[in-house]
Amino acid sequence: MIDNYDRIIEKISKISNVDKEEIERKIEAKRAKLSGLISKEGAAQVVAAELGISFDNEKLKIEELLPGMRKVNTLGKVVNVTQPRVFKTKKGDDGKVANLFIADDTSNIKVVLWDLNHISLIESGKIVEGIVIEISNASMRDNELHLGSFSELKVTNQSIEGVKTERNFKEKKISELKNSDNVKIRAFIVQSFEPKFFYVCPSCRKKATQEGNIFTCVEHGKVIADKKALINIILDDGTETIRTVAFQDNLADVGLTDLENVEELILQREKLLGKEMLFYGTVRNNKVFNTPEFIIEKVDEINPDLLIKELEN
Ligand SMILES: [Zn+2]
Repeated sequence: MIDNYDRIIEKISKISNVDKEEIERKIEAKRAKLSGLISKEGAAQVVAAELGISFDNEKLKIEELLPGMRKVNTLGKVVNVTQPRVFKTKKGDDGKVANLFIADDTSNIKVVLWDLNHISLIESGKIVEGIVIEISNASMRDNELHLGSFSELKVTNQSIEGVKTERNFKEKKISELKNSDNVKIRAFIVQSFEPKFFYVCPSCRKKATQEGNIFTCVEHGKVIADKKALINIILDDGTETIRTVAFQDNLADVGLTDLENVEELILQREKLLGKEMLFYGTVRNNKVFNTPEFIIEKVDEINPDLLIKELEN
């Protein structure tokens, strides 16, 4: 995250002709004024806005796209496309949404298309894996880039070499973790809890509220919701412990497959204890406990070659 922050400062400095040091000072002052409630990156954006800088005419690298940014322009190679999904809008009409992943030489990002004209480029086969697209006037929603009807999407014949399809996860110790860190930790599973089940909207994947058998999405109204599970797992790497959240997609990689079978799941959870693995994800603040929590995005077995190398040392 730090290099990302440095890049933003550099960019602000270049456009505004203000020294990097001066910009950093302004950012720190802004954060102090807001009692540290805002991230460095967030404060950088506020400072940029105050200096009258907009990124409207700038083409940003994917790594430079930050939550909350609007009217951003970027370029990326399509590395994954999912077929459009149909959902019911609040008015009861059929809406469509499609996702893709784009990558450049700095990073990669999920792109969400809401406009039918953009979606038709996927349906007609104009946007496929390997093609480079240019995006203008899109907005960042959390860590995703969203394109509405005011956004532009174009296929270009520019080429991008050395795209980064793996996300950038730095390895850190649990005791060093800070809010919104994107990291890899190597740790032992020391405890796991019973699964919690919840329902999500099939279009936007946001939590759907349940009343009897009726599920509602804030954005998409009445939906046929997907049932999902999560399990809290406690990790320990010798420096500290942290509570994590493992969602459905990662549970099988950890070794939890029989979520609905109480007895089998107890056995699977027992087998987990003491297992050492690599966990990739993001640190966020748990609002209920007001403690850091690690959201697992990917799990890996520890590579035997790596272990052998360590034993040799
Ligand atoms: Zn929805």
